[in-house]
Amino acid sequence: MPDPRYARVVPDRSGQSAFDYEIPEHLLGKIWIGSRVRVPVRTRLLLATVVEVMETSEVEGLKPISEALSDKPLINPTLIQLGNWIASYYCCASHIALRAILPQVVRNSEVKAKQLLFARLDKKPDAEAFEQLARRAPKQAGVIDFLLGLSEPIALTDLMKECGVTRNTLEGMRDRGLIAIERQTVQRDPYSEENFIHAPQLEMNAEQVAAYERISAAVRSPELNRPILLHGVTGSGKTELYLRAIDLTLSLGKTAIVLVPEISLTPQTVERFKSRFANLQGEVAVLHSHLSDGERHDEWHKINNRVAKIVIGARSAVFAPLERLGLIVVDEEHENSYKQEDAPRYSARDVAVYRAHMENCAILLGSATPSMESYHNAMTGKYELLRLLCRVDDRQMPRIRIIDLRMEASRGPGASILSETLCKAIRERLEKKEQSILFLNRRGFSTSLICSSCGHVCECPNCSVALTFHRAASRIVCHICGHTAVVPSKCPACRDPRIKYSGAGTEKVEELAAAFFPGAVVKRLDADTVTRKDALKDALYAFRTGKIDILVGTQMIAKGLHFPNVTLVGIVNADMSLHLPDFRAGERTFQLLTQVAGRAGRGEVSGEVFVQTYTPFHPAIQFARHHDFPGFYEQELEFRRKTNFPPFSHMVLITLRSESESHAAFSADTLTRRVREALESGDLPADTVISNPAPAPIEKSHGQYRFHLMLRTARITRLSKSLFAILEKLTFPEEVIVTVDVDAFQLL
Ligand code: ADP
Ligand code: ZN
Repeated sequence: MPDPRYARVVPDRSGQSAFDYEIPEHLLGKIWIGSRVRVPVRTRLLLATVVEVMETSEVEGLKPISEALSDKPLINPTLIQLGNWIASYYCCASHIALRAILPQVVRNSEVKAKQLLFARLDKKPDAEAFEQLARRAPKQAGVIDFLLGLSEPIALTDLMKECGVTRNTLEGMRDRGLIAIERQTVQRDPYSEENFIHAPQLEMNAEQVAAYERISAAVRSPELNRPILLHGVTGSGKTELYLRAIDLTLSLGKTAIVLVPEISLTPQTVERFKSRFANLQGEVAVLHSHLSDGERHDEWHKINNRVAKIVIGARSAVFAPLERLGLIVVDEEHENSYKQEDAPRYSARDVAVYRAHMENCAILLGSATPSMESYHNAMTGKYELLRLLCRVDDRQMPRIRIIDLRMEASRGPGASILSETLCKAIRERLEKKEQSILFLNRRGFSTSLICSSCGHVCECPNCSVALTFHRAASRIVCHICGHTAVVPSKCPACRDPRIKYSGAGTEKVEELAAAFFPGAVVKRLDADTVTRKDALKDALYAFRTGKIDILVGTQMIAKGLHFPNVTLVGIVNADMSLHLPDFRAGERTFQLLTQVAGRAGRGEVSGEVFVQTYTPFHPAIQFARHHDFPGFYEQELEFRRKTNFPPFSHMVLITLRSESESHAAFSADTLTRRVREALESGDLPADTVISNPAPAPIEKSHGQYRFHLMLRTARITRLSKSLFAILEKLTFPEEVIVTVDVDAFQLL
């Protein structure tokens, strides 16, 4: 086949589209899909990625590509194809999709492989010369002696330490031909300090055996099998199944990706995978947001160079450039954090399902509380459903008790935050030297400051939300934009000094717990206390080894953690997520209660969960209490069906924001009108439902006014395509920002 003569490229910073270029003579045979190139755009040279190569072009006089930046492509054709799918499904430009696939540190040519100077012996010195050296310069002879005992080159800095010599000495030795010094690339391994001990396979129980039979069939012949949804209660041993499935995948000469939500990508999780594959240390790559640019660069190249066979990572790991992909595992598939909230606004779970389909590999979605979307897919036969109904070793599911705060609140100060029933139960745990977890998904001390005299609430100047009082920092803080201010001593509106602090955050719970249980060690874990890289790890270690009696925390402690000695979990306020203006509020609350409850009773002693609420009879709470998954799904699905919400439709949320409220409102009206016209003229799928444009629930954020327009349809790809075309033709006032979120999760 002749070499392609033309290439379609997407500049890193172009508007919406791709452009064609000629491949000049000297680059023939050196440009592929995924090549990084420099191309002339008007008067400048821009970095770009090749997305297509062609033998002919209809256009004459195309400009030539200026330069090829590497001698091999950085993205394989499959990933390019995946990028195209993302662009069309999620209604974005293809270069936006490519940006997610090719990480910043790889595109950015400033981050490079790390190189260090290494020393080795060039040739063995003859005995006579060595003796002379030993007399004249014993330290130098020492260096030679040391190097003789090594089979590999040693880093110069290490050699200096080992032999007590200076760099000058070593360079002098090199100049005299005694040793050789050269640059070598070294791997920045985020886990190099740790020593993972091989953890053998566990004997599976009957439920696991049955599930594994189906999973292994899918890994062996993905073409004959559907995606698998593994619905296993908390503590049922799903991870063991993932590990075995990976083992099998590797034994077939293939590779595997494991996606974990960022928040549960804790040291504990990584350790479980690293330990099982301890003998393959270098073949396990880990990708998450706490890596330095250098580490991320190296982990990515380790994958791209086919060294890594297993990739564990958060959302973006779904794009890991593995070859011969045999398995993708999506753990906690219901997690919101799989959805990226910036463009491209993709769902890593859904991209994983599509990638698996494209690459003909097995896909395993696991959760104790599957999303309505996935569960519905299982019910309709699109996915295969596997269940693990029991905890391993037949450990009991924790007993869930509901505490009606309406009855408790009158009992005295603090009782509406930590009720008497809950306190009594914690006291019993303390006596038995068992541990407790108190969960509240809100940071800070008080959630608002209200003037007792005029009712003024201290709000963020940039956002339409109340400021939270953080006592440790002694500031009031906006949880949306991060704005902080000093705590007012009088009401800013009426100057009355009687300011009331209301609503509790984790700081307050910590303080109450310390006051109620003076002898106990209480520790708080949230984004305010976990600021250092190792703080979370240290705190979890202290908790696991029994140095903490009561752990207070946000969602940071809600998921994926395993503490055998925790026998009590208190959910301080179950209502918090229940009354949000979001059709998923019930689903989220049910999932959260079940997941948090799942932290209890993972050891020999069974656990108890206390759920404090003002709405004890809400279905999400009642079904969670009875561990009744099918019951909850059935009634929730019925509600979604009646209202035509996902999973019965796809939802597209368009946000228009601007510092000018009238410009944002006006633009929302214009867009709505245009979309309605398109529906009437048959340009949109006929089933499209268009809402009225309205101010978003959080009307103002980061100083911008926000308006929402919501569309629903069953035919999402068609809607996305039409919408893309409509938006390309419309012009809005310059400062109005329009974002399109397909299958939106964040509705506020
Ligand atoms: P899940 O992910 O379903 O919540 P895990 O995979 O974390 O559950 O398993 C819970 C605990 O049970 C872990 O400590 C795990 O090592 C252990 N475990 C899993 N399978 C078995 C088994 N077959 N026999 C004994 N222990 C097991
Ligand atoms: Zn703010």
